[in-house]
Amino acid sequence: MLIFEKSRPGRGCSMLPACDVEVKLPGERDKRERLLHLPELSEGELSRHYTEIASKSHGVNDGFYPLGSCTMKYNPKVNEDMAALPGFTEIHPLQPEHTVQGCMEVLKLLEEYLCEITGMDHMTFQPAAGAHGEFTGLLLIKKYHESRGDKKRRKIIVPDSAHGTNPASAAMAGFAVVSVPSGPDGCVDLEKLREEAGEDVAGLMLTNPNTVGLFDKNILEITDIIHDCGGLCYYDGANLNAVMGTVRPGDMGFDVIHLNLHKTFSTPHGGGGPGSGPVGCKEMLANFLPSVLVTGEETLAFTKPGQSIGEVKSFYGNFLVAVKALTYILTLGREGIPEASQNAVLNANYMMHKLKDLYTMAYDEVCMHEFVMSLSGLKKATGISAMDIAKGLLDHDIHPPTMYFPLIVEEALMVEPTETESRETLDEAVQVFRELYKLAETDAESLHNAPVSTPVTRLDEVGAARHPVLRYVFEEE
Ligand SMILES: *Cc1c(COP(=O)(O)O)cnc(C)c1O
Repeated sequence: MLIFEKSRPGRGCSMLPACDVEVKLPGERDKRERLLHLPELSEGELSRHYTEIASKSHGVNDGFYPLGSCTMKYNPKVNEDMAALPGFTEIHPLQPEHTVQGCMEVLKLLEEYLCEITGMDHMTFQPAAGAHGEFTGLLLIKKYHESRGDKKRRKIIVPDSAHGTNPASAAMAGFAVVSVPSGPDGCVDLEKLREEAGEDVAGLMLTNPNTVGLFDKNILEITDIIHDCGGLCYYDGANLNAVMGTVRPGDMGFDVIHLNLHKTFSTPHGGGGPGSGPVGCKEMLANFLPSVLVTGEETLAFTKPGQSIGEVKSFYGNFLVAVKALTYILTLGREGIPEASQNAVLNANYMMHKLKDLYTMAYDEVCMHEFVMSLSGLKKATGISAMDIAKGLLDHDIHPPTMYFPLIVEEALMVEPTETESRETLDEAVQVFRELYKLAETDAESLHNAPVSTPVTRLDEVGAARHPVLRYVFEEE
């Protein structure tokens, strides 16, 4: 039942003190034509409403959530405790600098640690997500070429395994997108890359390990090819969870990167957000960063880079997310950071090896933090698709892996267990995956109908796309 259906006129739970200033009503021009529909519920009803919704959804706190490319790791509660401290929450972005030195130190420290982890020189916390970071990073690349009077660089090269946000961000930043294919080994086809590299190339966008869960062994050659033709290299940091503390994008030859604090650095995702997609860069791009940067040693100050691309978000980005990420880094420490990555890689390989006699792996090699299966064989043999297996998992309280991505793998299921899952959880999930495979062979019909135990069962996806119901319609409308 929707909150609007539970609403009763006159019921409420706000306890605002009486207004002690003169009430000013808006003028005729600004007056609402109709009353605003706000739900009216008691505090108890409201609390139950949200608790009920929460119990119907699935999160990392409910069970296994191996959503590939998303790094759905457990978010330690100590992060939330730190971010709830009044010194961080009861401040205003326009407060004088000398009154918020501690908060500025959070940004400075986090910048230092993330630069150390990634091999970058500077970082901005303004972007609110990975895709937003991509857009910001591409504007830096654009400005870099423009500042050198190099106007012919219109192209951004993106591998065909890339996340959809990469070409989208490049197009939004005004570039033409050129796709380069991956070879049979899942890595960038070097010959094809050389063919595209030229004087019109502004840069390359790449994630490493890539979206099929493999570390591109030619990475130094790839970034050399781009640099040799005068382009810059952008690192999509969404997969950093596989390599943090072991290798650094800066050392792989990347000039500008984004990180997803809500993936790698254990700050909440999606509805639990907000997110944060800090952008790091090498020195030669620092002068173009969005404002503001924290500088100084004893006394910290906000400074605006001289040739800044301008603001991409208000003030300092999602500051409390930065507090959570800093807490995570300090909790893990120098030893814990690489250990988390190594365990993430171990967990993915463990699951892959326990499944590969049944499921066809898209690339049968040692994987990094995630692996991709192709269910096209199973589909041909039984009619059971990647979608059916994903829906079957829901009946076992497991969130489906990422489906039909990357696009270069047919009937793809992309599994990323993360380091925070125990061996028992992985074993149970392996068991479920294996049972579903057997079920596909013996009773395919039952899988076509899955899920049957969830609050919402199999959706009519075509209907939802063709006739979407996007908002609640009130009776009097
Ligand atoms: C998640 C992801 C992105 C986009 O990040 P958001 O924070 O969701 O905007 C980009 N690239 C890859 C490979 C990703 O997995």
